[in-house]
Amino acid sequence: MPAVPTTYRNGCGTFLGLKLHQAADEHPCSECLIAEERRLLEATLLRELVPVRPTPLEPLPPITPEQAARNLATLNAEMRRPPRVPNCGSYAAWQRHQRNGEEIDPACATAARRYRKTRNLALQQMTGRAA
Ligand SMILES: [Zn+2]
Ligand SMILES: [Zn+2]
Repeated sequence: MPAVPTTYRNGCGTFLGLKLHQAADEHPCSECLIAEERRLLEATLLRELVPVRPTPLEPLPPITPEQAARNLATLNAEMRRPPRVPNCGSYAAWQRHQRNGEEIDPACATAARRYRKTRNLALQQMTGRAA
């Protein structure tokens, strides 16, 4: 039973915000509850957008030392690779501008508007109500 009164944080309205409420043993705020409901709705309705990885029925067999060395080398190579930066004119680039507090250029603003419009239309069509 939550013992602490709800705190509103900068991360509220995101999955991280919800996790922070849970970590602090408090009731989630309404913004976080709405975001979570929306997230679950999208996960249910837009299932085809989420890559499916079936759970193996058998426990995974132990890997050989050679395979372990190959896995480690692949991981290390990926860690050294500089992170891919999304090109302007995409929703990912718009998110990057937001995160870094950068100015939003017209191409990214248009991409973000189009993304939200498409997502909302899809949700409205699938639920039969305004989302
Ligand atoms: Zn919250
Ligand atoms: Zn941009």
